[in-house]
Amino acid sequence: MAKKNLPYDEKYYDREVETMPRPELEKLQLERLKDELVWSYENSAYYKRTWDEAGISPHIDSLEDLQKFPFINKQTERDCQGVGSFFGELCCVPEDDVVYMATSSGSTGVPTMSPFSQHDFDEFMHAEARLFWQTGMRPNDRYLHGMNFALYVGGPCVIGAQELGALGIWVGAVPSDRLLWAMKHYQPTHFWSSPSYAWLLGQKAIEKGYDPKKDFANLRTIIISGEPGGSIETTRKAIEDIWGASVYDFFGLSDIYGACAGMCEYKDGLHIIEDQILVEVVDPVTHEVLPDGEKGELVYTTLTKRSRPMIRFATGDIGWVNRETCQCGRTHARIHISGRKDEMFIVSAVNVFPSDIEHVVRKDKGLTGEYRIRAYDENHTTKYEVSDEPFDAISKRVENALKTHTGVRPARVIVFDTDKLGASGEHKVKRFIDERTSTAEAQEVLHAAEEHAKHE
Ligand SMILES: [Zn+2]
Repeated sequence: MAKKNLPYDEKYYDREVETMPRPELEKLQLERLKDELVWSYENSAYYKRTWDEAGISPHIDSLEDLQKFPFINKQTERDCQGVGSFFGELCCVPEDDVVYMATSSGSTGVPTMSPFSQHDFDEFMHAEARLFWQTGMRPNDRYLHGMNFALYVGGPCVIGAQELGALGIWVGAVPSDRLLWAMKHYQPTHFWSSPSYAWLLGQKAIEKGYDPKKDFANLRTIIISGEPGGSIETTRKAIEDIWGASVYDFFGLSDIYGACAGMCEYKDGLHIIEDQILVEVVDPVTHEVLPDGEKGELVYTTLTKRSRPMIRFATGDIGWVNRETCQCGRTHARIHISGRKDEMFIVSAVNVFPSDIEHVVRKDKGLTGEYRIRAYDENHTTKYEVSDEPFDAISKRVENALKTHTGVRPARVIVFDTDKLGASGEHKVKRFIDERTSTAEAQEVLHAAEEHAKHE
């Protein structure tokens, strides 16, 4: 792992590749795709069998020729693993050449194994280094890696930060107290987490008495991944407001790399490393390839992976692609992910994703940002309802003000919806409800004393 020694003000980690004009980039993709298809055909029992059956030759002349090839998906991986060898029929190298494996989370079924040869692992780390550099990470930065290391493809990404020369702080998935302690003492400049955890950790920090903007003053970049929230501007903003840091969304797949795509400073989609991954958008029903800008299922083909090439891997993610040159100068496509195919629901002919609803809920300052969506059928029509919760900080703020002003903290401050206290419009409002037993006794004593005085 050779350090590149780039000047800190160099904008690109790999200038030549990242800003390559599209015709050249597509030429490079075609060369690599040709190799990858022949390699897959010659070394994977699965690809050879299915392409032979479909009468498809692995030799192609153009990128469009890829459209003839069948799709694979998670189920293909599950069906192939363990067949014939440990890594199974999709794998193109003997197990001896595999140096690392990750697994999928298994959230949609049996976990799938993802093998990497040394070549694949090195390419993976170059990709991570490039995406980190794109967020502004430099060799004088401290990167706190709070990702799980156990079988999770996000774990080794810390080595990508080290490749560019940054200080890698391998904290891993630890309880929030420990993580906050590490953040306070090691003062990282960069930190990577899921969107919901970045938000929750900020809330925990405040609860524990930290002032995130002061106590973690060095922190200027938070990378988030793993949930659609990272692409939702209001969610990023909510996290940025807590930490006073800039939030960048990353996207990865256990099947390919921990991060395959990431935001640049313009944050208009995620640049996918197109010299290593080819992206197509297909109609989720007809499987026809859609033009750029149209929403459909994202399909990836690896161009350099040797251990387990993924040829037309249909992800189940719905999104769209923009291949215009970005304001940052990079020519690599930007992907926009709306959500999962299986989470989309249709209401009155409109496609709705949970991420659309999250956008609205996170925008409302009076809500905590937590929500539940229930899609249900009524009278043969799909409807949806949303549950959310008012922001506890309002009651906390009043509670603290009361403690400061009176010297004692109330047991509880309850925040009602507007007009729910039923007081407006009345002339004389009973605002003090006294249920103290001690008061009742005191009143009796007072009353008895008065009666006694009258008879004196
Ligand atoms: Zn850009």
